[in-house]
Amino acid sequence: MARLAGVAPVGLVPKRRTALLIEVPDGLDAARWPAAVHVAESFYFKPDAGLLLLSPADETPAEPGDAQPEELDVAIAIDRFEEATGRSVRRLRSKWAGLRSFVADKTPVVGFDGDAEGFFWFAGQGGYGIQMAPALARAGAALARGEALDADLLAAGVTVEALSPDRLRRDRRAA
Ligand SMILES: Cc1cc2nc3c(=O)[nH]c(=O)nc-3n(C[C@H](O)[C@H](O)[C@H](O)COP(=O)(O)OP(=O)(O)OC[C@H]3O[C@@H](n4cnc5c(N)ncnc54)[C@H](O)[C@@H]3O)c2cc1C
Repeated sequence: MARLAGVAPVGLVPKRRTALLIEVPDGLDAARWPAAVHVAESFYFKPDAGLLLLSPADETPAEPGDAQPEELDVAIAIDRFEEATGRSVRRLRSKWAGLRSFVADKTPVVGFDGDAEGFFWFAGQGGYGIQMAPALARAGAALARGEALDADLLAAGVTVEALSPDRLRRDRRAA
């Protein structure tokens, strides 16, 4: 969209993330399991409607488009799950992949572009766009109206500067 509008890029990079649904290993009832994430975020799994949703937590830079799961990433997810839990994955029900878009500092880009009057960014939510949506939408609405951020967002450490598209250009100019 920025390119169409003739606005300089902020360095968004789509990164492929793979997910699969597997059957719960024999003899286990996963209905009340919490989400489990490896401390190094090398994989995670959580119950999903009678199955387990499993991901190798991959972040592979990709061309924008219709992302597809790679067999290797599927195999890595299953291997890490089996090694950590000591349980075998008997059946894979489905697999897919999507693109999570990040800028260099992995923080969303929200605000008017300092070099292109009237162009407003709301991008780069990476892998947290759903969880952040209530707060980030409020921040975006305030910035689009030229108002201050809500007090609870400021108290949580959210700043206009940390969200601003101009921070990415400043970093690049300094480099
Ligand atoms: C595999 C994967 C796992 C994720 N896991 C999580 C998670 O666990 N927790 C979390 O919080 N977030 C997660 N995310 C991130 C989250 O999905 C995104 O951050 C969020 O969906 C971004 O919301 P959005 O409305 O900005 O963009 P999108 O949801 O991408 O919506 C953009 C919409 O615009 C439409 N569109 C595009 N171009 C045009 C056009 N030219 N004209 C008209 N319409 C157009 C698209 O069809 C789409 O419907 C994950 C993402 C992926 C890919």
